[in-house]
Order: sequence, then structure tokens, then C-alpha cells
Amino acid sequence: MQKLSKLLISKRVIILAIIGILMFLAISQFQISLWYILGLGILTGVVFGKVFCRWMCPMGFIMEIFMGRNPDSEFTHQYQYHKMGCPIAWISGYLNKWSIFRIKLNIDTCKNCGLCDKECYISTIEPNKFSLYKKEKTNPGDSYSCSKCLKCVEVCPNGSLTYKV
Ligand code: SF4
Ligand code: SF4
Repeated sequence: MQKLSKLLISKRVIILAIIGILMFLAISQFQISLWYILGLGILTGVVFGKVFCRWMCPMGFIMEIFMGRNPDSEFTHQYQYHKMGCPIAWISGYLNKWSIFRIKLNIDTCKNCGLCDKECYISTIEPNKFSLYKKEKTNPGDSYSCSKCLKCVEVCPNGSLTYKV
């Protein structure tokens, strides 16, 4: 199961491209109402949190192409953290705190290596407030800005971070 989720996370941009293009075709060719897309974004937000932007959105895919040249730059981190997005991003961002799937830490297996925080743009920008493994800090996965890139889950060498119910 862990292997499958890491495989999916490593293919996230490809998944984003496929769903984003299908979404664009549904809107442009079949005139699917934007209200349905908004409804889909909210529904996925309730279940998974703010996944729409980085797993499904056509605009998100275009932004990803521009940022893909330099994914670890300060500019990219700042953009991810502060971007205003659209109503789907606003609503699903707030749902990060209550969604059914959340990012969880297994403190028994965590080795405090800190790799997860280094990969996360939220804990990189606000290290005094957020951390994925320091108990006294807030989990960035619950933050409005977490777009469920799941890099934190991907880099953890011990499988201590999982994205689950
Ligand atoms: S999924 Fe993990 S690495 Fe990505 S923004 Fe959220 S907490 Fe940070
Ligand atoms: S990457 Fe994994 S082992 Fe390292 S601090 Fe984060 S949760 Fe703990």
C-alpha cells in the first residue's frame, strides 16, 4: 500500500496533466457548467482536503509547468504558500482541517531527521509555527496553504508520515 501511494505521489504531475486536460475538455467541448466543477472541488475537499489545485486543475497544471523549472526556489515556495487561487482553493484550503483524509505522523517510527520539513514549503517559510514531526508545532498538512503535494510523505525514509483516514 505504501509503495502504491509513493508511486502515485511520484507521478502526481502526470496525473494532474491527465485530469487537467480532461477537465478542460469537459468545460470547453461539452460545456460542463463551472458549478459542477465547483461542486467537485468541494466534494474532493471534504474527502481529501485541498487536492484540486495540484492533482486536478488545468490552471494548476499550467502553473506547474512554469514552476517545474525550479521547484525548490524561494519564489516557487512563496508562490505556493501565498497564492490566492480560486473559490475551489479557498474552500478546500479551509477544509484541510476537517477533511476525511489527513497527513498523520507515527511518532513511534519517526527518527526526527527533519527531511519532511525541508521538503514542505509551509514549514520552510514558517519554521517557528509549522512542523510535520515536532509535537509542539502545528501540522502544515492542516494549514490552509497545504495543496497536498504529499512530498512530505514521499521523502520520509521510515514511512512515518501517511496520508490516510
Ligand atoms: S502535502 Fe506535505 S509537503 Fe506538501 S504542503 Fe502539505 S504538509 Fe507540506
Ligand atoms: S522525514 Fe519521517 S522520520 Fe524524518 S522527521 Fe519527518 S516524519 Fe520523522
